[in-house]
Amino acid sequence: MLLSMEHLTKVYSGGKTAVDDFNLEVEKGEFICFIGTSGSGKTTTMRMINRMLEQSSGTIKINGEDIAQMNPVKLRRKIGYVIQNVGLMPHMTIQDNITLVPKLLKWPVEKRNERAKEMIKLVELPEEFLDRYPSELSGGQQQRIGVIRALAADQDIILMDEPFGALDPITRESLQDLVKDLQEKSGKTFIFVTHDMDEALSLATRVVIMSYGKQVQVDTPDNILRHPANKFVADLIGQDRLIQARPSITTVGQVATKAISAREDQTLKQALGEMHTKRVDTLLVTNNEGKLTGFVGIERLNHYYGSGKRIGDIMDSNVFYVRKDSVIRDTVDRILKRGFRNVPVIDDDGKLIGIVTRATLVDIVYDALWGEADKSSSNDSGQAKETKDTTDKETGKPQAEVTQTTEDGDQK
Ligand code: ADP
Ligand code: MG
Repeated sequence: MLLSMEHLTKVYSGGKTAVDDFNLEVEKGEFICFIGTSGSGKTTTMRMINRMLEQSSGTIKINGEDIAQMNPVKLRRKIGYVIQNVGLMPHMTIQDNITLVPKLLKWPVEKRNERAKEMIKLVELPEEFLDRYPSELSGGQQQRIGVIRALAADQDIILMDEPFGALDPITRESLQDLVKDLQEKSGKTFIFVTHDMDEALSLATRVVIMSYGKQVQVDTPDNILRHPANKFVADLIGQDRLIQARPSITTVGQVATKAISAREDQTLKQALGEMHTKRVDTLLVTNNEGKLTGFVGIERLNHYYGSGKRIGDIMDSNVFYVRKDSVIRDTVDRILKRGFRNVPVIDDDGKLIGIVTRATLVDIVYDALWGEADKSSSNDSGQAKETKDTTDKETGKPQAEVTQTTEDGDQK
């Protein structure tokens, strides 16, 4: 057992019981999300784990060793802490920002420099950026640096307290993907506080639901969705996640259909021909290895027609995609909310393997809500789709939408 908390209680000096008999055992490589109402004791628990706060009673052990007996430097080598936001220090270079904690932990300078290079590669930014200042990077790049900074000191356990709380939903989703990806690759153990159920369900291997200092439910996202412990949990989950009711289809890859695509090195003429035969107004673009690199719409093709350019020169590389192993439950919301009609699906190597269509997703949601029994009545089904469509248009704006129909082809 990597981390264990037994009968942990915190009573603040004024007499407030912030955490009340908290128990949790965490294995290496787990991603634990704490979620609960404000004031339920999430931050207090996190702060006890790295001894920023002392518990009133109970025990915390790392690899069986009581942290109360551990020397603080040793403890900090094992546990990293990221507070509320991912802001970088503006007067420090990217390199110094990334290696802030390694420096505090007195890593030798060569090892720190090496680590900075290694980390910046993980987020696919050029090494030259290490010498720049945060203001010279885009907002999105800065946030990615903020995420790798949390991993830079190579600690076994990373505590993150609402790191994305202040960000807009789209930025937050892309950073969630990054965190999840890095966590899986690094095998580190994360304890992550959020007030966003979507975030908890998509990131966590187990979710700890808190209310008034107590654990209400501790379980995998799946079990929480299937068997919410009480009304509090059910309300926290919300009705829209009933999609879980259809267990047979779980991953995006299972519902993907064939994508219409072109290669970067193809001519515009070839691409237009393909569009014409397949009756689509947008093509996904892949490189020679079949990796998804962008998309191109008919307007743009027409605009550059005869210029001698290739698809790769004119495509838009800002393309939204999902991975084939993504759980539908986690992606359906963000796809529908953004109003995408189709979303490309890629495999672990980034290769394009198909698309999921909005219609497919709406069908699945429909099944989950109304069951298989009603499916024969196509009228009802059509109505449900209509309703769903309208709602989504209100809540979400498409970003770089990939349409493969002839309705609104303007991709910009
Ligand atoms: P959360 O992170 O879940 O919002 P906290 O752990 O910050 O909750 O707080 C839990 C409870 O403890 C709240 O009621 C809060 O008001 C109280 N609390 C937090 N810090 C202190 C403190 N330093 N002194 C007294 N009460 C505190
Ligand atoms: Mg808090």
